[in-house]
Formats: sequence, C-alpha cells, structure tokens
Amino acid sequence: MKRVIVATNNAHKADEIAHMLDMDGWEFVTLAEAGIASDPAEDADTFVGNARIKARAAHEASGGCASLADDSGLEVDALDGAPGVFSARFAGEDGNDAANNALLLEKLAGVPDAERTARFVCTMVFVGEDGTEKVSRGTVEGRIGREERGCEGFGYDPLFLPDAYGGEKTFAEVPQSEKNKISHRACALSSMKEQLIC
Ligand code: IMP
Repeated sequence: MKRVIVATNNAHKADEIAHMLDMDGWEFVTLAEAGIASDPAEDADTFVGNARIKARAAHEASGGCASLADDSGLEVDALDGAPGVFSARFAGEDGNDAANNALLLEKLAGVPDAERTARFVCTMVFVGEDGTEKVSRGTVEGRIGREERGCEGFGYDPLFLPDAYGGEKTFAEVPQSEKNKISHRACALSSMKEQLIC
C-alpha cells in the first residue's frame, strides 16, 4: 500500500481529495492521522508555489513520506488576476467570505458584464518519497455576477457564474455533486490521478 499524506488542515478538503483519488493500492491520510503538525506560511506569489510549500513541509515533517497539497483561488481579469493567491484574505487577514465577496463587488462596480470574466484555479503538488514532484492544474472559466445568489458551497461561489451553466446559475445554486463534475479542484485531481497511476 502506498501511503500519501494529504497536506491540509482542512478536514473537508482532505476528505474530498481522498474520495476523488480513490485508487487501489493507495492510502490517503490526513496530517492528523499521520500524527504530523504542519502549518507553514503560504507566502509564495503563485498557487503552485504555495502548494509546493505545503507538500514539501509535510514531506519533511514526516521524514520522507509521499505528500500531496493543493492551493486554489479566484483570478478576475478586470483586476489583473486579483485576488489570486490572496483569495482567502482579500478583505484582510481577519476577512471572511462575506467581506471578500462584498469587496469584489465593490471593485467591479461599473465593470460591464462582458469584462467580468474570471476563473477558479487549483494547483496540486505531489512530492514522492524520493522527493520528486508531480504538478497538476485545473481551471473553471466563468464570470462574476452582480449580486450573491445561492447558499451551497463556500467562498466566492455565490458570485461565480460558470460558463458551463450558460452564465445563468452560480456555483452556490447547484448541489456540491454538480460542482464537483466541473470544478477546478476536480480537474486538477483528475489530472493528478492520471500522473500517479502512470
Ligand atoms: P485554499 O487556500 O485553496 O483553501 O483557497 C483559498 C481561497 O480561494 C478560499 O478561501 C476561497 O476564498 C477561494 N476558493 C478556492 N476554491 C474555491 C471554490 O471552489 N469556491 C469558492 N471559493 C474558492
């Protein structure tokens, strides 16, 4: 059995990753299950840089166990890619989803629909026992709406109108199972899965 540490302190994310990477012969465990405390500063200026920091920290803390980490966020074209790696703390270190969404709407006030294009990005970094890396990336394209709609999901979901839904529904207006079919995280995971089984 190949054991892989999913390097996140978010139990929901660890579950989702382990579930989607359900592969014979592979066991995915959380940091807590592996008995490891790892919470490095995510201070890189790219998603892949931050995912690498988390995966490498878990690899080191575990004494060389294979580790997998992700980093994700929202890129808005009219804001030159912001909030990007600052997605979680767009409205400040003490910010929350409501404050982040309010700030995003404020910054996009007056931006016409055609220019409200955006994407969610997820990057995953796997570090093998020998320290070699595999990297995957997934994106989902869409637009930023003018008001929050729906109560599913989290983060910017109530403002994000995926192109795949014809721009009519936000990610927060569909069940998680629907979102999981096209999400940036699902795309990155599926690409990582292909690389791991090669
Ligand atoms: P993380 O560091 O990968 O957990 O995500 C950083 C931030 O990006 C989150 O706090 C959210 O604000 C945003 N984000 C990432 N993925 C999603 C998503 O699927 N829906 C909504 N917001 C997301």
